[in-house]
Amino acid sequence: TNIVVAIDGYSSCGKSTLAKALAKKLHFIYVDSGAMYRAVTLYLLRNNIDITDEKAVEAVLPDIHLNFHSRDYQTHILLNDEEVSDEIRLMPVSNNVSPVSAIKAVRTEMVKQQQRMGKSKNIVMDGRDIGTAVFPNAPLKLFMTADPKVRAERRFKELQPTNPDITLEEVFENIAHRDYSDTTRKESPLVRAEDAIILDNTNLTPEEQLQFALDRVEP
Ligand code: C5P
Repeated sequence: TNIVVAIDGYSSCGKSTLAKALAKKLHFIYVDSGAMYRAVTLYLLRNNIDITDEKAVEAVLPDIHLNFHSRDYQTHILLNDEEVSDEIRLMPVSNNVSPVSAIKAVRTEMVKQQQRMGKSKNIVMDGRDIGTAVFPNAPLKLFMTADPKVRAERRFKELQPTNPDITLEEVFENIAHRDYSDTTRKESPLVRAEDAIILDNTNLTPEEQLQFALDRVEP
């Protein structure tokens, strides 16, 4: 039977870096669940749907078709057949994704699609509720955290080349705000699953955190 590795944690603490590296090493499929919430958010923004109107959001969910195509362990997500992998990283989406992901109908639909992906394939999935709601029986669960300042600096360095106007303060604020919304929302708040192993990577290199995870994969 197939294996799922569940990686959860705060915003911008290196979940996708670890998930990609682990998937590559284990020859598993990498699934970025946050990209799905981001693509839904992008659709709502583009179509001027009021994201505070849960009924309006729920009504358009059937019009949103998401697909991943996996190539070189990067996230390639298609929103109604259009590649939106870069656009979903920009600030308009980052600033609106948390309220969208707090909507019950959105979560129900995303979780259903995520569980389907884990049915037949070995996957590494990262997100906020993977070990708690999506795959509560995953044999390996990691809960990632890091100093918020270090997280903001890393994300700033990553975004700056393509977003020259962005400021470190703006990135820090966005991360702090998402942490707050994600941990305090009613639907599947971000919380460590009881059996998840904590991985604080404030002082770890990507290589060191990969080794930490590999050491915990059952031989
Ligand atoms: O992982 P990433 O930062 O791209 O996720 C964007 C947002 O999507 C998070 O801040 C959170 O609000 C939401 N999310 C979620 N559940 C997941 C993955 C992401 O609520 N499994």
